[in-house]
Amino acid sequence: MVPVGDIEIGGGDFVVMAGPCAVESERQLLQTAEAVAAAGARILRGGAYKPRSSPYSFQGLGLEGLKILRKARAATGLAIVTEVMSEEEVEVIAEYADLMQVGTRSMENYALLEALGRCGRPVLLKRGMTATLEEFLRSAQVIATNGNPQIILCERGIRTFETATRNTLDIAAVPVLKAVSHLPVIVDPSHAAGVRCLVPILSRAAVAVGADGLLVEVHPTPDKALSDGEQSLNFREFRDMMDDLQPYLDLRDKPPRTRPRLVALGGAD
Ligand code: PEP
Ligand code: MN
Repeated sequence: MVPVGDIEIGGGDFVVMAGPCAVESERQLLQTAEAVAAAGARILRGGAYKPRSSPYSFQGLGLEGLKILRKARAATGLAIVTEVMSEEEVEVIAEYADLMQVGTRSMENYALLEALGRCGRPVLLKRGMTATLEEFLRSAQVIATNGNPQIILCERGIRTFETATRNTLDIAAVPVLKAVSHLPVIVDPSHAAGVRCLVPILSRAAVAVGADGLLVEVHPTPDKALSDGEQSLNFREFRDMMDDLQPYLDLRDKPPRTRPRLVALGGAD
């Protein structure tokens, strides 16, 4: 169980983190924070430092973005998760964030992971898009052995030959990770899908396989978003998704008879 402010992740509650891919303006973030809080999210996501696939894309507002995140926390009481890309940024981001996000591209940045071991904040570690589960857990061990056991794992889809989705959501990763480690596991359906219509469906799958929560992209006007608009839900879509998850969350309270046995990573198929 990992505490994030007064929220416990991995302790039985299903915790939803939601917000825009990138903080774009105070108005955009505050509106989104209010909407996602009203729909039941407990943690606000928003990138201030953005790792973009292209150097010509919007790179984030940096420190200004962190200050806007702090205002949104004050206005709504939501905890904040935001990405940290380099070890030099760890200290400043730890001042503003309740949960430090490591993106897929940084999962093997060991200098960053070591610095996060000493940062005094919980870490949301996203799976590298080409990482095996064993490699994913090794990165978690780097953070833990450097002094920080407060780690949440996030399955966000991996690269495969399939092109219908942006990434392939490895849904089996959730029960496998939960069987071989004691860490909470959440799912990011947005980066897995790459298209918004699949996000509610994959979220239901995440609940059904026993995930401890979700990380979902939400934007007031997805078509105008500066990043990842195609996979972002608008406020109504997010509210509907949260409402539709409820029956699945109710079922989750009755654990199934068959639980995954301990799986040897890298073992026989
Ligand atoms: C994000 O959460 O906006 C992000 C960049 O995610 P990922 O690192 O999984 O691509
Ligand atoms: Mn994004």
